[in-house]
Amino acid sequence: MSRVYNFSAGPAVLPEEVLQEAAKEMLDYRGTGMSVMEMSHRSAAFETIIQDAEKDIRTLLNIPEDYEVLFLQGGASLQFAMIPMNLMKHKKADYILTGQWAKKAWKEAQKYGEAKAAASSEEQNFSCIPDLSELSASGDADYVYICENNTIYGTKFHTLPDTKGIPLVADVSSCFLSEPVDITKYGIMYGGVQKNIGPAGVTIVIIRKDLIREEVLPGTPTMMQYHVHAKAGSLYNTPPAYGIYICGKVFRWLLDQGGLPGIQKKNQKKAALLYEYLDDSRLFSGTAAKKDRSLMNVPFVTGDKDLDARFTAAAAEHGLVNLKGHRSVGGMRASLYNAMPYEGVEALVSFMEKFEKENR
Ligand SMILES: *Cc1c(COP(=O)(O)O)cnc(C)c1O
Repeated sequence: MSRVYNFSAGPAVLPEEVLQEAAKEMLDYRGTGMSVMEMSHRSAAFETIIQDAEKDIRTLLNIPEDYEVLFLQGGASLQFAMIPMNLMKHKKADYILTGQWAKKAWKEAQKYGEAKAAASSEEQNFSCIPDLSELSASGDADYVYICENNTIYGTKFHTLPDTKGIPLVADVSSCFLSEPVDITKYGIMYGGVQKNIGPAGVTIVIIRKDLIREEVLPGTPTMMQYHVHAKAGSLYNTPPAYGIYICGKVFRWLLDQGGLPGIQKKNQKKAALLYEYLDDSRLFSGTAAKKDRSLMNVPFVTGDKDLDARFTAAAAEHGLVNLKGHRSVGGMRASLYNAMPYEGVEALVSFMEKFEKENR
């Protein structure tokens, strides 16, 4: 069996140990005689799975009791609508635009209220996080919205904006559980799990309980109301059970890595290896502003489209796959999520060195 190094931005690499364990349990989950895919979400076995998953993510992120953890569906994209529909009491929110995902969320929110672009780095093709020292959140905004790690552009908020007490809502899809965070700084932290946690189909929403309101905007579908899911313990309807099961295994795996401080160290070491090479390279260069670089997504270019395409194809032949950049940045992008081993980044960098020698 030969596994490749998969640098995809998402769905993305998962820990091999987790996949092995899931394979072992595929036909008979712990003496139940069936796969997790085949069991009732109301069964004792599945109740244990979802409860353990919640317990472990609470441990990892140190989530206090006044926050709810919801396992939902619809991807990160459904949250673009759910957030305003549930939170827009005064029908006002501030959005910080740092890329396409933030922009999509902002556009969606405009259907429900006054969503203001409070800051933007679009003029810099989103290669940086805008200066927020002068940010003045509208006093009556219901929330301030950010996309904390910009998957396409490879930038990250290394400090959170000061929202002066207004709830901060953050899309953390591509940096979920990659480093320790202070959850109490957030009103909502949410993400699709297919970037850094599990298989597509699960969205995790961590929400401060006082933001779970029954007075949602008129017409909000039942399935899109946080309080409905909170009351039902994420079992209002059939949840994405198998996906939650895999997420649970990834949480255990993360605890075994030393929790978020442990995985952060590994992530920093992996990213440093690639960034140090990029900074010295005369062929390749990173596209994101140094001060805002992401540990998770690293876009880079040669400056020559044909050479980029040749590099991506040659890398794939060497088992380094999914390195093609997003069309809005071009070039390449290496995603170095939690489950990417250090050896994968070493293999990438030595392949880049060789390619550089042959093509300068
Ligand atoms: C991938 C991604 C999304 C979209 O996620 P879906 O689950 O496909 O809706 C949203 N935000 C960010 C930051 C992403 O990386």
